Amino acid sequence: MRAAVLYGAGDVRIESVPDARLIQPTDALVAVSRACICGSDLWPYNLMEPVETGRRMGHEAIGVVEAVGADVRTLKVGDVVVMPFAYSDGTCVFCHEGLHTSCIHGGFFGTAEVAGAQAEAVRVPQADGTLVVLPVGAEEALMPSLLTLSDVMGTGHHAAVTAKAGPGKRVAVVGDGAVGLCGVIAAKRLGAEQIIILGRHPDRIALAKEFGVTDVVSERGEEAVERVRELTGGSGVHSVLECVGTDQAMRTAIAIARPGGAVGRVGVPHYEAIPASEPAFYNNVTVSGGPAPVRAYIGELLPDVLKGRIEPGHVFDRVISLDEVPDGYRAMNERESIKVMVKP
Ligand SMILES: [Zn+2]
Repeated sequence: MRAAVLYGAGDVRIESVPDARLIQPTDALVAVSRACICGSDLWPYNLMEPVETGRRMGHEAIGVVEAVGADVRTLKVGDVVVMPFAYSDGTCVFCHEGLHTSCIHGGFFGTAEVAGAQAEAVRVPQADGTLVVLPVGAEEALMPSLLTLSDVMGTGHHAAVTAKAGPGKRVAVVGDGAVGLCGVIAAKRLGAEQIIILGRHPDRIALAKEFGVTDVVSERGEEAVERVRELTGGSGVHSVLECVGTDQAMRTAIAIARPGGAVGRVGVPHYEAIPASEPAFYNNVTVSGGPAPVRAYIGELLPDVLKGRIEPGHVFDRVISLDEVPDGYRAMNERESIKVMVKP
């Protein structure tokens, strides 16, 4: 089969690889009908040292179950399923606490252990706990939004939840990528009164407004902090969704939180220590977040997607074939595209 393999910064190739197959009795084999390129894929795309054997990329997918292992109970061949970016057994203590990304038997797709989903097929470990069957006959038009339940919508939701967004709250979203935009949807869905986005790309800002943003801050650094204070009566916001992962984004996030506020960080951190610990301390700001347990959120978010109450699929502004994946990385990296969908 064919799959996307990253060999180093800027070097993603489509190659013939051994067919995905069942290894453990708890595995499912899924034929990928839709996958995506993620903003987090751009970190290795920009930074990875060249390697001999590449890394099989991709951690978001919708597909059709082609085979199941002997111990799989809840899935059958032909089921249309959505795959969270982390696999999990659904039965351990952390899964029961809703923290599936810390599953004792879990792990991540697109790693050395489990190959990625930017491929014709993917092996899904812990299939019963991991995969969610989508209602058969889910309309084609809903597929982009259903696909975001793999990662970006659940991740934006996690940022909002860990930042304690809710009714009447003032919320700021740092970052206008697909996750930040889904964070806007999540904040609005949870009842936020004011939603400020910090971003500067016109196409993304337009989408953010469609999703419910009330204010746009295009300044950076200290100027952005000043502007948010102006927009919030001088105090800052209750909830900050940090959807970038850089030191600068985290500094800004803490600086715009009001006393007693919270930062939910979902951008993969590219800093050693959390910055701005002094203002965070003196303002009693909670810094929370981490990899989103998107599996835990699918049950809550799926009905809203099926009913069309939220339309996170609008973050996709390009659909490509597997062969076009290298150009898809380039387009997202150059901010020519917000998020790319792959139809193998
Ligand atoms: Zn578990």
